[in-house]
Amino acid sequence: ELPNLDESGFGLLEVSHRSPTFQSVIDSAEERIRRVLSVPEDYEVLFLQGGATLQFAAVPLNLTDPADTADYVTTGNWSKKAAGEAKRYLNVNVAADGSNLHYEAIPDPATWRVNDDAKYLHLAINETVVGVEFHDVPSVSNAPLVADMSSTILSRPIDVSRYGVIYAGAQKNIGPAGITVVIVREDLLDRARQETPAVINYRVMADAESMSNTPPTFAWYVAGLVFEWIMKEGGIAVIGERNRRKAGKIYAAIDASSFYNNPIDPACRSWMNIPFTLSAPELDAVFLRESEEADLLNLKGHRLVGGMRASIYNAMPEAGIDALLKFMTEFETRHG
Ligand code: PMP
Repeated sequence: ELPNLDESGFGLLEVSHRSPTFQSVIDSAEERIRRVLSVPEDYEVLFLQGGATLQFAAVPLNLTDPADTADYVTTGNWSKKAAGEAKRYLNVNVAADGSNLHYEAIPDPATWRVNDDAKYLHLAINETVVGVEFHDVPSVSNAPLVADMSSTILSRPIDVSRYGVIYAGAQKNIGPAGITVVIVREDLLDRARQETPAVINYRVMADAESMSNTPPTFAWYVAGLVFEWIMKEGGIAVIGERNRRKAGKIYAAIDASSFYNNPIDPACRSWMNIPFTLSAPELDAVFLRESEEADLLNLKGHRLVGGMRASIYNAMPEAGIDALLKFMTEFETRHG
């Protein structure tokens, strides 16, 4: 389809985004993600640009006025960044912060101090760097729930109807970087500040079918293929079971060993990002070198936390998990 999309004679990379050929690409992408995530009728699905990072600003600009307050629960560096950006646009109430737990656990929802007048409550459902994930999203506020799902969307079923806004950069489970999925409940479309840029204004983009300007056509197309792949695999519940199994195997191996450690509270361990350390940190470099030699790539932990991290998005097959565990066992035998 790269040189000849749908027998149109146009290649995917040259076809006009205003052409009927491309229109069918975006229509099917939207229809598929709606099906995969069971998105209710009263939600718009937008395909925007600027990554999840631009949504850190787009959310307050679309949902609030400068004098308003919003609640943020900070459970790692991404939700902290979201709160930091939002502070430029409104009053941020940090309802709970995991820093005194070293971001290794989610503060007990019973202790969250939400503001009665908050316009929304923001959560990062999966913290990509520290590896903390909400397995049960608590109901603690009447304000709409706004969720950064960048590193968890499409990893398991979600109940979209619990959220006001869901946003996610594409580059984990959706497709190539460059496109950002935003799912917005219709009643929240018309609250934007007058100065909100059109390309991040939810109402403008909903009315323009996410094409008030030229969209990232290739990323959008591939995202549609990924949604189709999920359907062919049996749907999001099948993917969810697979991810539960994949992550469970790694955590079980780490917990069974005194050589490897994962510090995260088992109640909120991420299914997508598994940080781990060695009991002998001086072996980190050896571990990374030898794992690379075994074709196990990208295991270096994020610079903020060090150690190792296995990011096991949907594209990582179960055989990849098995290969990692085999290597970890052998490494422990040699060096433990
Ligand atoms: N939120 C989370 C949870 C992320 O993992 C990331 C990227 N790793 C971002 C936000 C920022 O996303 P982007 O690079 O698409 O702006």
